[in-house]
Amino acid sequence: MRSFLIFLVCFEVLAITIFSVAQLSPNDAYPSAYGDDCGQTGENLSPLRREVYDSGRIFDITHRFTPETPSGDSEDGIGQFLTLSMSMKNGSDYNFSILKLAVHAGTHVDAPGHMYDHYFDAGFDVDSLDLRVLNGPALLVDVPRDKNITAEVMKSLNIPRGVRRVLFRTLNTDRRLMWRKEFDSSFVGFMKDGAKWLVENTDIKLVGIDYLSVAAFADLIPSHLVFLESREIILVEGLKLDGVQPGVYTVHCLPLRLVGADGSPIRCILID
Ligand SMILES: [Zn+2]
Repeated sequence: MRSFLIFLVCFEVLAITIFSVAQLSPNDAYPSAYGDDCGQTGENLSPLRREVYDSGRIFDITHRFTPETPSGDSEDGIGQFLTLSMSMKNGSDYNFSILKLAVHAGTHVDAPGHMYDHYFDAGFDVDSLDLRVLNGPALLVDVPRDKNITAEVMKSLNIPRGVRRVLFRTLNTDRRLMWRKEFDSSFVGFMKDGAKWLVENTDIKLVGIDYLSVAAFADLIPSHLVFLESREIILVEGLKLDGVQPGVYTVHCLPLRLVGADGSPIRCILID
């Protein structure tokens, strides 16, 4: 039955391929790199892993999960997060993995219940986050490298009213902190007064940053509390902002629908 289904899927892909090739030559609409996994024979059987698609039209700003992905509670990264509970090498008909993962590791989103226990009890989990905030036009900005994001820094960025999503690129990207497994508390982020300034003087509802916390370590809890109090601001942390020009993009961020979870891994992309 399974092989029949695979045959059907392959047949469908093949049919679509033939149909598409008949209509389109290999170009942006149908790049040859899309390939067709069904016909692979074993030569060059290795997947293509990409950071950028279509010469810079789509940027994947999500970090890959590996055992070395950093997490705020670990010196050794997340460790083994996948367990193959059924394995074809051990005679199973298929491979079947179990995922066990801290919800604030790698590129992830915070829910209001992360820092407010009464919100947690009331159900303000990642499933309650507004997809309209997580998707739409976004500004990628570079912030001064020699300080945390204070009120003064926020003011100097001159982010116009009406801008609802901002990804803040900091020294954390230059230091490649997300690429190291050890949690490093010397990261930069928002001080409480910077968070307060953002809440009171901008229309920003999505705050993205390039390490595991939007808040600087010195103001870890106070800054989170300022951002999450209204339950209108969504914090996306651990973004991979390397090699992307500052400017306006469309961001798409999609968390998992984990009912009861105070955070979730999130897939984020930027489209130019
Ligand atoms: Zn978090």
